[in-house]
Parts: sequence; C-alpha cells; structure tokens
Amino acid sequence: MDKKFFRCTVCGDIHFGINGPEHCPTCQQDNKYVEIDKEEAKNILGL
Ligand SMILES: [Zn+2]
Repeated sequence: MDKKFFRCTVCGDIHFGINGPEHCPTCQQDNKYVEIDKEEAKNILGL
C-alpha cells in the first residue's frame, strides 16, 4: 500500500503513513488529520 502524508489541521503536525492518525500526539485532538499531497508536505517540511 502506498503511504501518504497527513497534516493535523490544528497544530500542523505531519504524519507519513497509510492512514491518518485518529489522535494527534502533539495537540491531543481527535480526527484532525487531513491528507495532503507530496509537494505540500515537502514545502511544510522544508525538503
Ligand atoms: Zn495536532
């Protein structure tokens, strides 16, 4: 399965995996991750 990038809409945490996490470990919110595309992830991560 392809891994994708997900971003927490509350704190901006980036997760790379098959599914977005239900719980954000950084801001402790649930169901705040949305899928973003690779280019957007690169920009955010500064790659
Ligand atoms: Zn968060």
